Amino acid sequence: MKPKKTDLHRDTLAVREAVERSQYGENSEALYLTSGYVQPSAESAARRFAGDEEGFTYGRYGNPTVASFEQRLAALEGAEACISTASGMSAILMMCMGLLKAGDHVVCSHSMFGSTIKLIGTDLAKFGVESTFVSQTDVAAWQAAIQPTTRLLFAETPTNPLTEVCDIRALADIAHNAGALLCVDNCFATPALQLPIALGADIVMHSGTKYLDGQGRVMAGALCASQELVTKTFLPVLKSAGMTLAPFNAWVVLKGLETLDIRMQAQSARALQLAQWLQDHPAVARVHYPGLASHPQHALAMAQQSGSGGAVLSFEVKAAAGDEARARAFHVLDSLQVMSLSTNLGDTKTLVAHPASTSHGRLTEAQRQSAGVVQGLIRVAVGLEHLDDIQTDLDRGLLTP
Ligand SMILES: *Cc1c(COP(=O)(O)O)cnc(C)c1O
Repeated sequence: MKPKKTDLHRDTLAVREAVERSQYGENSEALYLTSGYVQPSAESAARRFAGDEEGFTYGRYGNPTVASFEQRLAALEGAEACISTASGMSAILMMCMGLLKAGDHVVCSHSMFGSTIKLIGTDLAKFGVESTFVSQTDVAAWQAAIQPTTRLLFAETPTNPLTEVCDIRALADIAHNAGALLCVDNCFATPALQLPIALGADIVMHSGTKYLDGQGRVMAGALCASQELVTKTFLPVLKSAGMTLAPFNAWVVLKGLETLDIRMQAQSARALQLAQWLQDHPAVARVHYPGLASHPQHALAMAQQSGSGGAVLSFEVKAAAGDEARARAFHVLDSLQVMSLSTNLGDTKTLVAHPASTSHGRLTEAQRQSAGVVQGLIRVAVGLEHLDDIQTDLDRGLLTP
C-alpha cells in the first residue's frame, strides 16, 4: 500500500507529490501538451462540466502537469489547495477579482512590489476597489487603516529592495478581527524559509518566475489557500478570465520545486556571508539584510524565516547623496564582469540592479527618498557562484574611482 501523503516529510513531497503516473510508467513527471481532452461518454462530459465529476475538460480549466505543480506547491506551503496562473501578477489579479467588488477596501504596505501597487492602487481603483497603503513594519498603522469594508490585507515580506519584514502573525490577527483575509506574497522567502499559512495567513501568493523556477526560464504564478477558496472563489475567475498557466511552464516550475530547499539554503548562506563582508567594506555605507544583527527586524525575521535572511540583500555605496551616489552605483554596476546586470531575481546566477532607476524609476525623488530607495542603493539577488568571485566582481567598481 502507498503511504498516505500526511506520513511523508516535506523533502519527500518536494520531489514526489504529483498526479498519478501514466500507464507508461514515466519516472519524471509527464508534460501533457494538449488543449482539449477526449471525454469517456456524453454523460460523463456533462457531469464534468457541471463540476460533479473529476476529470479534465479543457486546457483553460486544467491540465495534469499544471495539477502536479499545484499539488506539490500546496504540499510545500502546508496549504489545502493551490491554483496556478500565467504569472505572479495574474495570480494577484485572480485573487482580487475573486474576493473583491466595488466599494471593498484593501490594505497593503507601500513598499510592495511596484506592479502590485499599480494593480491595486490604480487599475482596480477604476472598478471601485479602494485601498490604503501603510508602512510595512508598523503594525499599528495596519490596524488604523482597517475600515468596515476592508476585505483583504496584503503583505509582502521581506520586501524588495530594502528587505523590510512584517509580522505575519500580528497582521493575520488584525485581518481576522476585522472579518478580512490576509494574503502574503511569499516570493522572497519561499516555502523553503517561511510558511505564512502556519503563521495565520489565509492565502499565499507566488511569482513562480522567481525562486520556484529558480533558474530564470519561465513565468508562472500561484495562490495557495483553503480548498473552498480555491474551488469556489478563484477557479471560477480562472475559468472565465483565462490567466491559465501553460503546461510547459508548469513542468519547468514543478521540476524547480525539487531543488528549491537546497538552492535557498545555499543561496541564503552566500547572501549572509556577502552581507557580512559588505558591512565591513570601506566603500559601503549601509547594508540591508535580515540576517544581520543590525537589521531593524532581525529578531522577527529569524523567528519567522527559519533562521535565515534569504538570498536578497541591498547596500548603499559611500558617496554624497543624489547625482554623485547614482554615478558611484552606476560605476559599480558597469564594472561587473561576472554577475548579471538584471532587475529579475531568484536565479542561480547572481543578479545585480539599481532600484532607483529601474524598479522604482517611476516614483518621484521624494517618494523614493521616503521609501528609502536612495540613488546609491544596489540590490544583489545572490546566486550560486563562488563567494570569492562575487566579491572580486563587486570590488572591481567599489575599489576604483
Ligand atoms: C516578480 C514579483 C511579482 C510579480 O511576479 P511576475 O511573475 O513577474 O508577474 C510579485 N511580487 C514580487 C515580490 C515579485 O518579486
